[in-house]
Amino acid sequence: MFFLQSRRVVTPEGVRPAKILVNGTVMLVANYGETVNFGRPMEIEVHDLGDLVISPGVIDAHVHVNDPGSDWEGFESATRAAAAGGVTTLVDMPLNSLPVTTTIAALKAKQEASRRKLWVDVGLYGGLVQGNADQMQDLCDAGVLGVKCFLCHSGLDEFPNALEADLRQAMPILAKARIPLLVHAELLSSPAPAVVDPRSFAQFVASRPEKWELDAIQLMLNLCRETGCQVHIVHLATGAALPMLAAAKQEGLPITVETCPHYLFFENTTVADGDTRFKCAPPIRAGAAAQLWQGLLDGVIDTIGSDHSPCPPEMKHLDTGDFTQAWGGIASLQLTLPAVWTFMRRHGCEDLSLVTKWLTTEPAKLVGIEVRKGQITAGFDADLIVWDPDAKWKVEASELLHRQPITPYDGCEMTGKVVRTYVRGQQVFRDGHLLRQPFAKVLKPWWQGQ
Ligand SMILES: [Zn+2]
Repeated sequence: MFFLQSRRVVTPEGVRPAKILVNGTVMLVANYGETVNFGRPMEIEVHDLGDLVISPGVIDAHVHVNDPGSDWEGFESATRAAAAGGVTTLVDMPLNSLPVTTTIAALKAKQEASRRKLWVDVGLYGGLVQGNADQMQDLCDAGVLGVKCFLCHSGLDEFPNALEADLRQAMPILAKARIPLLVHAELLSSPAPAVVDPRSFAQFVASRPEKWELDAIQLMLNLCRETGCQVHIVHLATGAALPMLAAAKQEGLPITVETCPHYLFFENTTVADGDTRFKCAPPIRAGAAAQLWQGLLDGVIDTIGSDHSPCPPEMKHLDTGDFTQAWGGIASLQLTLPAVWTFMRRHGCEDLSLVTKWLTTEPAKLVGIEVRKGQITAGFDADLIVWDPDAKWKVEASELLHRQPITPYDGCEMTGKVVRTYVRGQQVFRDGHLLRQPFAKVLKPWWQGQ
């Protein structure tokens, strides 16, 4: 048991000087410097962190851990990178592993693969693909925090996109189980311009038109209205969808929206032709960041998730720079907080409560862990990070702790650095070093009693 205190603690009531008693959970939150009276003599160490910020840890609800059955990442390296980046809970996507998480047996394989490898707490998503809607009830009962589907080809033949019939069958089951459906919203509803020069970034972007996103979101809004199933649009990359999403929210539909750090951070970056490190889907579109920023401020976009999606270096085809062949996905698990914070400061916003809302509080609600995690309140898990919002540093891809050292953030200047991470009161990261042994666990939604 120990106290952490700082002049900037992000609490649900706002940022204030405070003193936190930590013992697995947050035992109490007192005023900064306050002498806490326990009614008996108690010698409890106080760690004074001065002006460093203490926030609830980042909850990254969109991570591709790709374990078991692949060497693309893995639970150990992913959760080490998470701890170093101030992520105290991550939720793993159901594809890029073998097997993909579309059955109970596959979910068990995932749970098994994560044993004794977790530095931070982990939740698991199930997958909805063609023909497996009959697995949804079992997956929900087994504790998935959500179900993910694609409306276009996922890039993997073993994870085919769901068809409307699959959605209609699955969504009422998910609605009843209070489990959100996370949707990769691109629908191949109209022909796209052909790519003539495979190295051209502009042609790659044009080959995945905004209209695909808009049509997919429209379909999901209709099905959401029809079934009452909570729909979470992942990685929104176009501002053009914001009016219809705002209207749907106004109407009271259970719809939430995520965007990703790369759609914000790289707003002023001119991507060179052949630089496939920037390939992701939907693509990073010029001019979208300012609109997405407004969407965040207006509350139309609820969460920011990394969509950390690594692959072995050769699959990025950097030697040929061929966007049509390269794996789509950006590896950035450790960088969400600094990337978003750097972007916010660029836009004149230094609101610590806002960044916490998008990276922590709202994701906790999305995945059903909000009664234990996501705020610094007595009784909540002591998932805490200590960070310096003024520290400037430069990303060296080779120093990041995820497995494959390729990321478009390499060489980028960041503002904001995590110096300590605590998971349920245990310090797992401090000043650049991992501490302890992996001890964290797989989570279930709170109503399943964990
Ligand atoms: Zn993803």
